[in-house]
Amino acid sequence: MVATRKATAESKYIYDFAEGNKDLRDLLGGKGANLAEMTNLGLPVPPGFTITTEACQAYLATGAAPDGLADQITGYLTALEDKMGKRLGDPADPLLVSVRSGAKFSMPGMMETVLNVGLNDASVTGLAAQAGGNDRFAWDSYRRLIQMFGKTVCEVPGEEFEHALDEAKRAKGTTNDLDLDADDLRGLVDAYKKIFSKHTGREFPQEPREQLDLTVNAVFDSWNADRAVLYRRQERIPTDLGTAVNVVAMVFGNLGPDSGTGVAFTRDPASGAQGIYGDYLANAQGEDVVAGIRNTVPLQQLEELDKRSYDELLGIMSRLEEHYRDLCDIEFTIERGKLWMLQTRVGKRTAAAAFVIAAQLVDEGIIDLDEALHRVNGAQLAQLMFPRFDGDHTQELVARGIGASPGAAVGKVVFTGARAVELAAQGEQVILVRRETNPDDLPGMIAAQGILTSRGGKTSHAAVVARGMGKTCVCGADDLDVNVREKRILVRGQTVTEGDVVSIDGTTGNIYLGEVPVCPSEVVRYFEGELSPQEATDPLVAAVHRIMTHADGLRRLRVRTNADTGADAARARRFGAEGIGLCRTEHMFLGDRRELVEKLILARTEADRSAALAALLPLQRADFVEIFREMDGLPVTVRLIDPPLHEFLPPLEELAVNVAVAQERGEDVAKEEALLSAVRRMHEQNPMLGLRGVRLGLVIPGLFAMQVRAIVEAAVECARDGRVAKPEIMVPLVGAVQELETVRAEAEKIIAEVVGDSGVEVLIGTMIEVPRAALTAGQIAEAAQFFSFGTNDLTQMGWGFSRDDVEGAFFWRYLELGIFGISPFESIDVDGVGRLIRIAAQEGRAARPGLKLGICGEHGGDPESVHFFHEVGLDYVSCSPFRVPVARLEAGRAMAESVGSDSR
Ligand code: ADP
Ligand code: MG
Ligand code: MG
Repeated sequence: MVATRKATAESKYIYDFAEGNKDLRDLLGGKGANLAEMTNLGLPVPPGFTITTEACQAYLATGAAPDGLADQITGYLTALEDKMGKRLGDPADPLLVSVRSGAKFSMPGMMETVLNVGLNDASVTGLAAQAGGNDRFAWDSYRRLIQMFGKTVCEVPGEEFEHALDEAKRAKGTTNDLDLDADDLRGLVDAYKKIFSKHTGREFPQEPREQLDLTVNAVFDSWNADRAVLYRRQERIPTDLGTAVNVVAMVFGNLGPDSGTGVAFTRDPASGAQGIYGDYLANAQGEDVVAGIRNTVPLQQLEELDKRSYDELLGIMSRLEEHYRDLCDIEFTIERGKLWMLQTRVGKRTAAAAFVIAAQLVDEGIIDLDEALHRVNGAQLAQLMFPRFDGDHTQELVARGIGASPGAAVGKVVFTGARAVELAAQGEQVILVRRETNPDDLPGMIAAQGILTSRGGKTSHAAVVARGMGKTCVCGADDLDVNVREKRILVRGQTVTEGDVVSIDGTTGNIYLGEVPVCPSEVVRYFEGELSPQEATDPLVAAVHRIMTHADGLRRLRVRTNADTGADAARARRFGAEGIGLCRTEHMFLGDRRELVEKLILARTEADRSAALAALLPLQRADFVEIFREMDGLPVTVRLIDPPLHEFLPPLEELAVNVAVAQERGEDVAKEEALLSAVRRMHEQNPMLGLRGVRLGLVIPGLFAMQVRAIVEAAVECARDGRVAKPEIMVPLVGAVQELETVRAEAEKIIAEVVGDSGVEVLIGTMIEVPRAALTAGQIAEAAQFFSFGTNDLTQMGWGFSRDDVEGAFFWRYLELGIFGISPFESIDVDGVGRLIRIAAQEGRAARPGLKLGICGEHGGDPESVHFFHEVGLDYVSCSPFRVPVARLEAGRAMAESVGSDSR
């Protein structure tokens, strides 16, 4: 049968470590590719081979190992046996192997490694003899095999093994596993075998090849484990990649005090500082070092324990760094004084470490600045800009959850949204604590400083909504026993009740009892100009400065800000804004100006209306003067009034009640009644789709004209003071060129009249935020000197989602289901909304070459979206002041990447 299948079994499903390299991650998975790379660098890696992801894909497609795989395993196993001079299952001198999963991306939920595969009742004696009569070691290895194999391959509940181990220690009167001797461990093997057969209905398999095959298939199957499936959906990892399987000759860290196992980083993954970071545990195997079974020692102490291995390890670490040109993390084992490398990969790191390490590597001549830019990202920079807890505090860390939305929040514990709202109204700062949140909690979430839940992950309702609001959130803190009815939390034997103060860190997930002092981030102080990179003691500031400077030098995309006041404009300018991309004018109709707006709306005669507008004009002009001054020399895009006018009037119910009450008292209610009937008249079922934007300008005579006049007069006033104002007047919500033409004709008359010989230049353009505008951009460009994509409305109208309602109502469910990986209001939906932008950009520029293009939605500060805007060829992005540095960095990265890919 084998012979007849040979013809179809030509695919190569297995690679020896000597055959692979680090660039074959698709085929060999990350772990396998890096084991091959280290092997070929001549580092001491135990021999082994990798079964490819293609074999896994074939297995998953048919439910059975593909033809030829079994034979190939036999072939590579024989070669491994020859190399090691041992045979699998040899009772006198058995070869043992580990079986390790390893996909292209490291993923939670994949199968855990099984060590010591190949041991059985007979060879356990041979193993002891080969280890110089070390019975303890052999039985320890055997009990570990049954435990790992049982738990991961056969789904025997792990606690039962743990329990039996604890029992054995208790019987011995110890808590240290090293006190168990060979006899104890032999007894434990018997106990483990009973547990195994109780749950599986069969004996623990004695045939080594059967152990191996079952484990390999279990690794394949784990690709479709629930947790792995969920994770892939959320991270948008394709479902068909499959995992590779690594079969590696065992080396033993549990042979005695001259053996051990450890993990190390080539630099500090928390701060980026150079040095030796790692943990070592003598006489231990595998995960023991991270599982906390005994106290590990800092890696430096290995120098005293085993200087030769230590020196060799340091040499290898610096070689790996040079080779990978980055921070590496490493797993190693020492077997009787001989060092073995078991894994390496480019290590994960904090945001601060990412910047510091990138700058260090430039200094060391290992990478250039373009590459340094590639090594950091805007999300990390944003994280570094949040206020943080002061490092030197004494508050107790009581638990740790998942850092779901960054920031540092302090407040009194409350358990209901209603209580949060109530206390917040009294000026208290509160932390809303729930098991999990639901849409009913929304008002409480808005009122709270931060949100803390004991259940749910990064895509739970609490996490999604908090991120949307930019509110600090720690979720899934399952050490907290939250009892909402009794208003208390039990945590590690302590009780926290309503009103107690807690501090939560949305970056690390840390939860402290009491008030932890908060301080502004150094990075923000640097952007604010309070801290020069030379005087900063924190190497982070110097690193950020260096990388930002490079990004600025490189980028093509300009970065503007959304700012409505002089103060915001000034701050954004300090943060590097190169103009204002969106100056909203709504606030210019609020406060003590409401009365004028009421007059405008209630005006019966032309004269009344003109009087109201004339009163608004100087107030708005003064607002614009302030903004133009701050932005001296830089362009300022002003959006004419956009929201439905009734938003400026009192709510209908409130008015109706007032009128009724006043009538009761016999007061004169003529004015209130007029207002009430105006509000009734203007009431709309769907105000977001109603009388707003350009429609207001076309319906309310003189409104846009007043705003245009205020803008241009302000610009002229600045010019007289020797400043340069560059107003760009933006008409919102245009869907047809005729709308824009009408507004423009009126505006141009005013501009011509006001500008005179002042030298002020004014542009007139439009927002592209209605899908029809995007699709008729060629026509609209005939009348527009610039486009600015209003991606909030474009997303809202493109998807038909109401932005104000959906995030709390159902987005969490959409995220859970993977309908989108991230809210389309957070990161641009490239396929849909992005396509509208692409069409509008192309057709707009075809109709009017050189048409200025920008974007002013929230997406302007979103890292991923910035790359898309660069790629479609926009001139600038505009975002909130705080996001300006993020956009600058990402614009630089986008440029570095597009240049890099051109030359490739
Ligand atoms: P993970 O991906 O969870 O880190 P690994 O496959 O790296 O899983 O293995 C788990 C542990 O077992 C690690 O500590 C690793 O170093 C150790 N290990 C894996 N293979 C061997 C081997 N052949 N000999 C000794 N220890 C091993
Ligand atoms: Mg692990
Ligand atoms: Mg590992």
